Amino acid sequence: MPLQIYDTMRREKRAFEPADPARVTMYVCGPTVYNYTHIGNARSAIVFDLLFRVLRHAYGPDAVVYARNFTDIDDKIIKASRDTGRPIDQITKKFAAVYTEELTALNALAPTHQPRATGHIPEMIALVKTLVDEGAAYEGDGHVLFSIEAFDRYGALSGVNRDEMIAGARVEVAPYKKNPADFVLWKPSADDEPGWESPWGRGRPGWHLECSVMIEKGLGPTIDIHGGGQDLKFPHHENEIAQSACAHGGAPLARYWMHNGFLRMGTDKMSKSLGNVVLTHELLKAWPGEVIRWALLSAHYRQPLEWTDELLRQSKRQLDRFYRLLEEAGDTTPEPAPPESIVLALRDDLNTPEAFAGLHELRDIASQLEGEARVNAVLRLRAAGRLMGFFQSDPAQWFKGEAAGGPSAEEIEALLEKRAEARKAKDFATSDKIRDDLAAQGIVIEDGPDGATWRRE
Ligand code: AMP
Ligand code: ZN
Repeated sequence: MPLQIYDTMRREKRAFEPADPARVTMYVCGPTVYNYTHIGNARSAIVFDLLFRVLRHAYGPDAVVYARNFTDIDDKIIKASRDTGRPIDQITKKFAAVYTEELTALNALAPTHQPRATGHIPEMIALVKTLVDEGAAYEGDGHVLFSIEAFDRYGALSGVNRDEMIAGARVEVAPYKKNPADFVLWKPSADDEPGWESPWGRGRPGWHLECSVMIEKGLGPTIDIHGGGQDLKFPHHENEIAQSACAHGGAPLARYWMHNGFLRMGTDKMSKSLGNVVLTHELLKAWPGEVIRWALLSAHYRQPLEWTDELLRQSKRQLDRFYRLLEEAGDTTPEPAPPESIVLALRDDLNTPEAFAGLHELRDIASQLEGEARVNAVLRLRAAGRLMGFFQSDPAQWFKGEAAGGPSAEEIEALLEKRAEARKAKDFATSDKIRDDLAAQGIVIEDGPDGATWRRE
């Protein structure tokens, strides 16, 4: 069965047919790198990481080209630099590295390309020139603006009409704009702001422009899938579509559009402006990445996901039950194919609730089997989980994983060494105290012929 994808543009679920099955192309809008990102941002990255995995499974690992950008020039970055006194490139490099590290901890695969906006300034200037030559853009007061009159399908993705855009003040009204809904392609930079020489003076690109350019450069004028959070439909994706189509003789930017729903705190979207964010790097101090990933994928990607501590605790408990069973499987290569029911659930517009139900069912079945049949069932279960980016840890390590607030594995190992020395010196008061202190923190020590081992209760 081919993949089924809910296409935001067509507003329906439809069969996915790539233009070229030997080169399936996908692009997802990445973060603006000026501070730590929150777990709502990670939801988007993890949903599309799952899609990347499902596409690789369907078309072959070398047949899928996935690009996710870093926005490394933006007014928010300029402000962060002013506020902290640190140079822009130091800020953007640091937070791009932090983001990459966080996603690796959440078992996300590295995208094929991770372009940075500032690496594509000449191409951006060229695209703006093309749009001006085509009559789709005009200059006003050092700015270059895209004229939405030039694109009659403007608004088709989001369904936002032009009157609503203006009435809802969702666009900035400015004297240099012919139409308040026209948007900035290029803007002038003050002397103390970063800028590049251009035919319109020293300036910098607008946000929407960079994605159009990086998509064309890395993937081509028309790609198979474009993804992002649902808040990006308007204006960001609408503007990407208009720019790219006008620069490419009307060719569509993407053949399928996918948008993930919001991660919420209570009934509110998690967002920096509301101040209700949980930072991914903070969460990773308390929870294994795989637990966070499990929680992020527990709801269908188009549905809202309410973020709670209970969701994390429940995800941890569920994963523990799988890892207990996986402990029996040992290491085997080659790995069997994942069961079809789970593959089909994922191919059905990434139906993760159904895929999770399939994993639970397989676990119940496997735990009732014995001998070789049991091992085979566990291996198939593991293959299904791995397709989704789970079960990447060695089970023994998993149970030694750092639980919320408890001592780290390193700290425990150091204490066990101290305890061994104390026992050697027949200082049983010290050795017992170490054991009791660890027990109070939920760490169980078992003494065996090869020394002591430990696990979390
Ligand atoms: P931003 O840094 O706000 O541009 O967001 C980066 C990505 O995260 C975009 O794809 C957003 O749509 C997505 N995003 C931001 N907040 C949330 C949220 N609360 N839930 C889900 N996705 C979000
Ligand atoms: Zn974008």
